[in-house]
Amino acid sequence: MVRIWAVPVSELDRQHLLGEHAELHCIIGALLGKYKAYRKHPETLRFEDRIAQLYYRHADQAAEMQKRGYHHNSPLSNSNQPYSYSKEEYCRDRQELAKRQRSRPL
Ligand SMILES: [Zn+2]
Repeated sequence: MVRIWAVPVSELDRQHLLGEHAELHCIIGALLGKYKAYRKHPETLRFEDRIAQLYYRHADQAAEMQKRGYHHNSPLSNSNQPYSYSKEEYCRDRQELAKRQRSRPL
């Protein structure tokens, strides 16, 4: 399952950064009414009242992708509402990512 991780984008490996970026575009599209299929997706509902945070997260993703030399050609508007998450969410996602990155062959 793909999600918007509760960790700084600098802590995501290539697969998770690119996966999260694609997911974010889908969620924004769903929130704007473009993708009906995604409308009831848990991650869509999670950001229902804070789409501005998704725009902020996207700006972070795009900057990180550019920094690593990945291709990015899907600009969105920016936002001044930082993506926020609790310490518990951060710890949970850190653990989940560590597990995934350890179990994946190089
Ligand atoms: Zn993009």
